Amino acid sequence: MTPPRVRFAPSPTGFLHVGGARTALFNWLFARRHDGVFVLRIEDTDAERSSDEMVTGILDGLRWLGLDWDEGPDVGGPYAPYVQSQRLEKYRAAAQSLLASGQAYVDEGAIRFRIPPGKTTFVDEVHGLIEFDNEHIESFVILRSDGHPTYHLSVVVDDIDMAITHVVRGDDHISNTPKQVLLYHGFGAPTPQFAHVPLIMGSDKKRLSKRHGATSVLEYERQGYIREGMANFLALLGWSPGNSDQELFTMPELVQRFTLDGISGGNAVFNTEKLDWFNHQQLLRLPDEELLSRVEPLLREENLWDPDLTGTMFGWMQAVLGLLKPRAKRLTDYVEGLRPFLDAPIDYDPEAAQKYLGLAGLHGHVLALRQAYEETPFDEASLEQTLRQLADARGIKAGALIHATRIAMTGRMISPGLFEMLVLLGPARVLARLQALAHFLA
Ligand code: GLU
Repeated sequence: MTPPRVRFAPSPTGFLHVGGARTALFNWLFARRHDGVFVLRIEDTDAERSSDEMVTGILDGLRWLGLDWDEGPDVGGPYAPYVQSQRLEKYRAAAQSLLASGQAYVDEGAIRFRIPPGKTTFVDEVHGLIEFDNEHIESFVILRSDGHPTYHLSVVVDDIDMAITHVVRGDDHISNTPKQVLLYHGFGAPTPQFAHVPLIMGSDKKRLSKRHGATSVLEYERQGYIREGMANFLALLGWSPGNSDQELFTMPELVQRFTLDGISGGNAVFNTEKLDWFNHQQLLRLPDEELLSRVEPLLREENLWDPDLTGTMFGWMQAVLGLLKPRAKRLTDYVEGLRPFLDAPIDYDPEAAQKYLGLAGLHGHVLALRQAYEETPFDEASLEQTLRQLADARGIKAGALIHATRIAMTGRMISPGLFEMLVLLGPARVLARLQALAHFLA
């Protein structure tokens, strides 16, 4: 196939949301799959609703997902500028040319496109043949009286000018397409291939919106999702690799497998549990050093990062991360899990305290355990044996002492395996925390 030229054309009137990110991803995958060109174009002709801050946010969101562009506002390219507010002259000239050829007319200072009789058809890669009767298309404005283009004009002028071969975008644009096809005809330009991607719905089958929680991609980053998890999840929202039930993909694998045929016509449902599953799986696939480098900025933010960690403590940290892996769905779960290992103050969760710290005589049991641990070699088996023997000797359930010790170490009811954790915490912290619990219980 001739290398395609595709574009992602966001209007900077809001954040890069999940739907936009998925559109960008599909375009990017398609371009990379066929050694094509991925263009980023900022559609900011609505000056009042657009802002530079939003542009920056959109670029950051794309970068976070790992989507790079070959031509765009910051990198330039043969069809620069890639920002519509800097291309107004082109739209004005295009509108004038339609006026000159009689395909447009002036109406109260604005320029309207004249709809020819007949039918307008196009073949959509996802939906097949789509046909509109021109009778139902109104003579629409292409240039407003203030000299600003409408979306239909600017998008078509730019897609022609930038030699775009495939327009891959959300289903909500299907109804705009006949007007745009008519403009292509008006300019005597060939139409690109269209592929309209089904919308993303919330679990209530309504169009995804803020009501369903976070929709901005960078918000997911803040919540501890990693790009590998998000991209994998987004890729499978409305696309599937064909005769295969493989779900986990690296970006290079997605590039290799992506086809427009794999886009399904039905709406895709956004399911947070599914996103968590992908994120968990992709976290498990990160090499240990990479995982640590992803967690590092979050620990720094909370002043929990030990700059000496790369020295002798590095192996220890790897072991601690290993302990947390089975439960951690997000980077933030690692931060929470690491906290007790990094000398953060231990606050007892009131619910945990109420549930497990009410046992009569617990103060004495904890002190006895502390004393016994002074004499115990710090390996898992010995620590467990000491605890169980002590519980037997004092006529209490081992479980009661295990729960209390877990709260002493982490403040929580839930933690990785207690004895593994005690080994990694080491005797000094373990004894001090048992002492602190005894003090709390006294
Ligand atoms: N700026 C339009 C949008 O944000 C782009 C539509 C298109 O891809 O043609 O929806």
